[in-house]
Amino acid sequence: MLSHADLLEKAHVLDETDPLRGFRDRFLIPEDSDVVAYFDGNSLGRPALATAERMDRFIREQWGRQLIRGWTDGWFDWPEEIGNRLGRVALGAAPGQVLVADSTTVLLYKLARAAVDARPGRDEIVIDTDNFPTDRYVLEGIAAERGLNLRWIDTDPAEGITAEQVAGAVGPNTALVVFSHVAYRSGYVADAEAITRTAQDAGALVLWDLSHSVGAVPVHLDSWNADFAVGCTYKYLNGGPGSPAFGYLNRRHHGHARQPIWGWIGHRDPLAMGPGYQPVDGVRSMLSGTPPILGMLPLLTGLDMLEEAGIEAVRAKSLRLTDYALELVDAWLLDHGVALASPRDPERRGGHITLRREDFREINDRLWQRGVIPDFRAPDGIRIGLAPLGTSFAEVHRGLSLLAELVGARSTR
Ligand SMILES: *Cc1c(COP(=O)(O)O)cnc(C)c1O
Repeated sequence: MLSHADLLEKAHVLDETDPLRGFRDRFLIPEDSDVVAYFDGNSLGRPALATAERMDRFIREQWGRQLIRGWTDGWFDWPEEIGNRLGRVALGAAPGQVLVADSTTVLLYKLARAAVDARPGRDEIVIDTDNFPTDRYVLEGIAAERGLNLRWIDTDPAEGITAEQVAGAVGPNTALVVFSHVAYRSGYVADAEAITRTAQDAGALVLWDLSHSVGAVPVHLDSWNADFAVGCTYKYLNGGPGSPAFGYLNRRHHGHARQPIWGWIGHRDPLAMGPGYQPVDGVRSMLSGTPPILGMLPLLTGLDMLEEAGIEAVRAKSLRLTDYALELVDAWLLDHGVALASPRDPERRGGHITLRREDFREINDRLWQRGVIPDFRAPDGIRIGLAPLGTSFAEVHRGLSLLAELVGARSTR
């Protein structure tokens, strides 16, 4: 096993030979910041320098000069235009199927409602116990509203959902299955293609939550043959706090799937302001109200960077980061009562890893006090999220050194 000094040297070599190393300098990282290691770019990505400029320019040149004309001069098309770009750069989705709008929670509701209504006579929604809380709650709400039942698959919080489990849960009553591609706790990467096929073979529709994969793990919605998907843009896509979500509506559902919030922006002719709702064609039918244009600006910068880096290179760095983090965990933490609650297999490992120990709630508070920022996930998990474009290997070393010190591992100085 490498010594502390050797592990630090290794971080430096990994940083120097990192083909994406230049991207870190494009983020706003204040020189006098009290943060010495940021391990939560999977919950809220850092701002890019270009985002600050872009927002300033937009306010002065577009909002300030165009005023209301901005809507007809282009803003109106942003949800679909940016959606198309997101589809191409990160989602493996052909144009006309992705939309930027609402929040993940709201889009999940709209798409899941459209899905269950498209499967009349089937009264079950399949979901797993370790899916993200909003997914579980929204589906509980839909089940209550539509008189459906939820069928829960028990997933191991250190692992994730498998095609075998799905095969055992779906049947002639299943209307919809909803899973996360990357589990928010363990980081387990589900075999989305196999699960999609399994559920569809039973006649069910499939909705993927991509919040913890988009921008870190390649997604291939069209080739998985997914029906619907949603995800956040403020995580690995650096869209900023509360930035709008995205939704995917596979082309084969256009013209049939009906979402429940019939607003004027999803109308065939919004400016006619006429009587009676008639949905517009295509993915725009998922829109309801006025699109959050300002909220989409940082995402444009996130997409610029992701496109330039390429999602495959981002994934390769992501795996190098978690490989290195696991090496430190093995060297420093496992002998001290810390357990790994994430897959080691690179094929099943997403962009973050979770570590567990009884006292991690308190240890997490102490990490935050000293500028190491992971997040805590009840009951006893510390989640180490390593956003590939903004995180350096030296930063991983710094942050995990402090964790090692706090758990009473041998002095790491
Ligand atoms: C972060 C996250 C969300 C968040 O939804 P919001 O509506 O943005 O609050 C939803 N689902 C998953 C899987 C997430 O990781």
